[in-house]
Amino acid sequence: MEKVLIIGGGPAGLSAALWLYKYGFEVLVVEAEKRSGGLLNKNYQVNDWLLGTYEKTGQTIAQQFRKHIKKTKIKILQDTKATKIRFAGKKLHIEYLKNGKRIQDSNFSACVIASGLSYRNEDVFKNISGIKKIPEKLIRCGPEAFTLKALRQPKRVLVVGGGDNAFENARMMCKRSRVEMIVRSKPRAQKHLLDSIKEINNSKKRCWIHENTKILSLNYDKNKIRVQITSSAKKNKIKKMLTVDCIHLLAGYLPNTAFLNEIMDGKIVVDANGYISIDDFGRTNFTGVYAAGDVSSPNFSGVVTALASGAKCAKTIERDLNPSFLQKHYKGLDKINRKAGYSYIYLDNIQVELSIGVYQYEKYLRNLDVAIVVGIPANRAKPNKDDINEVINYESFVEAVRKVVDKQQGKHFNLLETLAKLIAKECFKNENVQYLEVRINKPKAIDGRVDAGVEIPFYRSELSKL
Ligand SMILES: Cc1cc2nc3c(=O)[nH]c(=O)nc-3n(C[C@H](O)[C@H](O)[C@H](O)COP(=O)(O)OP(=O)(O)OC[C@H]3O[C@@H](n4cnc5c(N)ncnc54)[C@H](O)[C@@H]3O)c2cc1C
Repeated sequence: MEKVLIIGGGPAGLSAALWLYKYGFEVLVVEAEKRSGGLLNKNYQVNDWLLGTYEKTGQTIAQQFRKHIKKTKIKILQDTKATKIRFAGKKLHIEYLKNGKRIQDSNFSACVIASGLSYRNEDVFKNISGIKKIPEKLIRCGPEAFTLKALRQPKRVLVVGGGDNAFENARMMCKRSRVEMIVRSKPRAQKHLLDSIKEINNSKKRCWIHENTKILSLNYDKNKIRVQITSSAKKNKIKKMLTVDCIHLLAGYLPNTAFLNEIMDGKIVVDANGYISIDDFGRTNFTGVYAAGDVSSPNFSGVVTALASGAKCAKTIERDLNPSFLQKHYKGLDKINRKAGYSYIYLDNIQVELSIGVYQYEKYLRNLDVAIVVGIPANRAKPNKDDINEVINYESFVEAVRKVVDKQQGKHFNLLETLAKLIAKECFKNENVQYLEVRINKPKAIDGRVDAGVEIPFYRSELSKL
């Protein structure tokens, strides 16, 4: 049984684990906290954004996830951090710390990084004078600003941040408190949140939004926090003093990726904000290393997307680790039609879903996974200029394959040969193609184990007969 390592036991990591387990992998999840569930454990409010879970808090949903995983043989190491990930050949080896003990585990075929985000904390204020005098308990960061205690207590609260979390918190706080909001630039929250604050203010002003504003200094005196703010938008920088009982810091989240530099051989490519860069299938720049959830999703964080991306990663791993017959034997294709001065364009493993096959179950299933390989000897291996117009652009052939597949959606093919022919015809629309080969593979088509498919050469001279 092949082994997969998952770093992070939040929704994305657990979802990847479940899917991989169901695909037949042995799965190990390494989770830094004492229990899995990720940020959901810190969501004390009802999360009705997840279909089917209305009236359930984030914490309850996390508990349900854990229960589901307990029904499987997925191994979760809690309170554990990976300290080293090493690549040896095609396998990954991990070293981790458990109860102060250094433990090694080897021969993982793949690894999913699902380490999520951390909310920004008092560090945001580190250069502001007076910060050290403010009692720690009066600054509530991230999820701590949403506890019942936080929501009930203060008369006046300063909410720092301009995104969804800050406005959601302000909306909730408005019920009991006077809210001052400090927004560094312009509010970025969803329209419905901004509108709800406007609506509250229309009946009675409860929330003061200070846009384009920064905190100059903080002062703590007689159980009150005095906040000096300044507007950065106006030239003559107006200064103002606010008095509040506590501060809710909701200044966003940062991806948990810094640890990867320390523990991995080589660098995982991240974007300018530290989010892991992945392809459409969840693959990172390292073969065998995948990423899922908020850590690789700067634009679509959330439980639903984390669950979906975990499942997607698992599916990709299943496919990548079980390469089709075609991929394994690709070298054969490479030798055909090789001539001096010719290069060989190949489009390997274009994965599509189609209704194809003569067996009853294939007709019933409707969407079978099919892998397509197209090989085209190009007419010039050594272009005169470093210019795409000098050679055949292979992307156009991927488009050709997809065009054929899209056209056939909703229809059923009995024969792979029919599909191959249609693909060949579409590719021959490029005048430069004289010859091509199409391979179509149905992974595990026979007995659920054996890949089966066809490989057909096509010549332009036979085009009229196709
Ligand atoms: C207060 C609050 C309210 C929210 N409300 C909603 C909502 O209503 N709807 C919604 O869709 N989303 C909501 N979210 C966001 C949602 O919880 C996250 O988008 C989701 O949990 C992301 O899942 P994830 O698995 O990608 O990451 P996370 O949930 O962050 O999980 C990552 C896990 O990786 C672990 N980890 C990190 N580093 C390491 C390491 N080095 N080694 C091992 N483990 C590591 C962490 O401990 C964590 O358990 C809310 C979040 C908060 C905090």
